[in-house]
Amino acid sequence: MKKCRICGKPAEVFLISRNLALCRRDFVENFEKRVEKTINKFRMADRGEKILVAVSGGKDSLALLHVLKKLGYRVTGYHINLGIGQYSHESLKKVLDFQKKEGIEIIIENVKEEFGMGIGEISKLLRQPTCSICGTIKRYMFNRTAGSFDVIATGHNLDDEAATLMGNVLNWQIEYLARQYPVLESKNNLKKKIKPFVFMSEYETATYAFLEDIDYIVEECPYATGAKSIFYKGILNRVEDRMRGTKIHFLSGFFKQRGRFVSQEKRTELKPCIKCGYMTTSNICQFCRIKEKINNKKGGNHERNFLQNQ
Ligand code: SF4
Ligand code: ZN
Repeated sequence: MKKCRICGKPAEVFLISRNLALCRRDFVENFEKRVEKTINKFRMADRGEKILVAVSGGKDSLALLHVLKKLGYRVTGYHINLGIGQYSHESLKKVLDFQKKEGIEIIIENVKEEFGMGIGEISKLLRQPTCSICGTIKRYMFNRTAGSFDVIATGHNLDDEAATLMGNVLNWQIEYLARQYPVLESKNNLKKKIKPFVFMSEYETATYAFLEDIDYIVEECPYATGAKSIFYKGILNRVEDRMRGTKIHFLSGFFKQRGRFVSQEKRTELKPCIKCGYMTTSNICQFCRIKEKINNKKGGNHERNFLQNQ
């Protein structure tokens, strides 16, 4: 039987990529220390700052909120009910249960209250890809709520970031590469963004959530099926199986080289949206455009129905 590298008791967690066997208690302690180390290394936040953490109801975001609070940071959660049927009901339930159990404030907003319909209906009505609509709406609402906070945090883990990097490299998305980093300083009214789990694998965040008794939604969003990121994760897992530590080398190596891309980043001038003041590249931001288009379509449908009934 393998023994815990730290205390010598029987090991229960095996981190193959790091060739490390740990007992439960030492895994949890080691995990928390590494998160703290990442926060300090990238100067993500200090304990006086107010951090808003995006929570979907999944393991990474709830574990992040939990660990930041445990480490003594001033955290508030933020959840958006996307109005995606059973998936959104279940996610909200997990978030509310977590809030009750952990006593952490979580701000909850609802896409249906903003637009009168959920993400799926908006995407159908506007004939635009669901995830792209969803991304725009989530980013906007999160930034809007972040107004009185110092920092915003997301639970992206090593697997997410390595898959994003793979996609960005395969498509040579130089601007995205320039912005892929564990910390992005505040700019143009947008708050500082941090990813404290950037070096923690999906297996580690899931194990941490399990050992810390965090109940999270296991199902993926129904629109995630067929997502490129899932495909890239599959490929990276196969490479990792053959060559341990590939993901961490891929990502941390890139962070060291990232300066090469930053200098080539196109500096697009941002200006406030004429409708809502959100910083954008054009006169009207994407969020306000979605609202406008929905109102136009609804108006159109209303007119059509009116004429048909004459
Ligand atoms: Fe939104 Fe797409 Fe993610 Fe579902 S999979 S939560 S639709 S971005
Ligand atoms: Zn706007």
